[in-house]
Amino acid sequence: MTDLAELDRRELEETLAALGAPRFHGRQIYRWLYKRGVTDPSAMTDLSQKLRDTLAAATSVTTPTVAKKQVSEDGTTKFLLQLADGKMIEAVYIPDTPAQTFCISTQVGCAMSCGFCLTGKMGLVRNLTAGEISGQVRVLASTTGLLDRAFNIVLMGMGEPLHNYDNVMKAIRILHDPEGMNMSMGRITLSTAGMLPALERLAEEPMIPNLAISLTGATNEKRDVLMPINRKYPIEQLLDTVRRFPLKHRQRVTFEYVLLKGVTDSPEDARALVRLLRGIPAKVNLIPFNEADELEYKRPSDETVERFQNVLVEHNVSAFVRKNRGNDISAACGQLMKKWA
Ligand code: SAH
Repeated sequence: MTDLAELDRRELEETLAALGAPRFHGRQIYRWLYKRGVTDPSAMTDLSQKLRDTLAAATSVTTPTVAKKQVSEDGTTKFLLQLADGKMIEAVYIPDTPAQTFCISTQVGCAMSCGFCLTGKMGLVRNLTAGEISGQVRVLASTTGLLDRAFNIVLMGMGEPLHNYDNVMKAIRILHDPEGMNMSMGRITLSTAGMLPALERLAEEPMIPNLAISLTGATNEKRDVLMPINRKYPIEQLLDTVRRFPLKHRQRVTFEYVLLKGVTDSPEDARALVRLLRGIPAKVNLIPFNEADELEYKRPSDETVERFQNVLVEHNVSAFVRKNRGNDISAACGQLMKKWA
């Protein structure tokens, strides 16, 4: 059985040819899968009965199943999704920001071991396939009734996208296909802890999503402790690569900066961040730390957060405090894989 969920459109067309069917049916099948959320070939009514039978006999469409769903007071919805091999991942729907946003996972667990992130405590279990990554979007879009509406995708769930490069890029290609979801690159954001070689490779791609860099530490001394990847690819090398990263007119790089009480939240830290970002079209998302029993850090007070933000703004750095969406259901940043009640 060929799993159609794993195929970009060209591969789907080749599969059809191998089954003795005209390639152009690939467009129709893509529309069923990605525009209408239909995976059963018998329901693909614009295909001949013969082709429907052939597809039913020779192909399948693997889709993550919703094991659990939790809705936050603010409408944020966390999905526990089960994969074909029984492994679990999480994805989150964040409504009305004002955009509709899906936060999607790229790995089961994560190898980055950031000390302030729960997913990092799991270690890496395995990479997600391209079909499992794009499949999360199919599931969330159909479940929320947004299949035919515009939405954003952020690769900010479990995992490090650039540590699963080929599958992530293939998933982006599938989601971007005009005959399928037709997502523009401007609606997709890839977030990385700073895997440099892969980031350099991304800069050479024909299609490049928006870039977010998780910084959380404005000096090597601090970042080495908080994000071990920094020991391999130090901050100045990372920012050099970001400086050379191709951006469109008025496009900016997002920097995510987690505010950890007494660790990354002082005005001095803020000034170091300002110096670091000099010359980069940047936007800073300040994320007050989301606490968890397993994590030793604490969240700073609202006043401390505001003081930090003010230093950035006074130095003409755009800085926004990330609202703490879905915190009551542990759907907030860094809380994925917290136990389901
Ligand atoms: N591995 C990628 C994608 C994950 S994005 C990356 O690091 O960018 C997840 C975001 O949540 C990161 O910006 C991370 O800094 C942030 N985060 C992790 N743990 C957190 C916590 N406990 N509180 C707030 N933000 C956290």
